[in-house]
Amino acid sequence: MRELEERIKQEGIVREGNVLKVDSFLNHQCDVALYADMGDEWARRFAGRPVDKILTIEASGIGIACVAATRFNNTPVVFARKSQSINLDGEQYVARVHSYTHGNDNTVIVAKRFLNKGEHVLIIDDFLANGCALDGLIEICEQAGAIVEGIGIAVEKGFQPGGKRLREKGFDVQSLAIVKSMDAKTGKIEFE
Ligand code: 5GP
Repeated sequence: MRELEERIKQEGIVREGNVLKVDSFLNHQCDVALYADMGDEWARRFAGRPVDKILTIEASGIGIACVAATRFNNTPVVFARKSQSINLDGEQYVARVHSYTHGNDNTVIVAKRFLNKGEHVLIIDDFLANGCALDGLIEICEQAGAIVEGIGIAVEKGFQPGGKRLREKGFDVQSLAIVKSMDAKTGKIEFE
């Protein structure tokens, strides 16, 4: 998606350790008009797919997923929590995931009453690197008996293995910008 690639080129900052910062429009300050265009693009790419629910993970996925939902018949958005909260009660699906950015392990939790057997789920997230966050969300769908219809990603780092691995497993992964390479010294970012 050209618009997203242009924004990444203009405002993205490449950090050592293969981290791309896009917090001026995606991860901290949110450009809602861009989110809407991203939602349109996912709606085009997943046209004809049944989507009963969008599943994402806190925190950065929530805004993107909520705007995208307006392009999928205002379907409910469920975000997985990374820690126990007083707002989480009842029975829960729980999976463990490794956080690439923080270098630690997280628990991903969804209340059982918000994800049901046979529901068609579109997973949406901001970044795809090694795919660990997605592994956790997919595992939660499996626990629920829900069907993963597709996976919509804003920025995939194509030089990391998550996207290839998940596509080989048969998941329809639609990334709106795929970074081929990036250099922390020059700041240069290339797309596939
Ligand atoms: P994965 O689990 O695929 O390795 O990493 C995905 C998660 O890590 C995303 O939800 C995102 O929060 C974070 N992440 C991974 N790489 C980057 C990056 O280069 N920049 C930012 N901003 N977040 C990243």
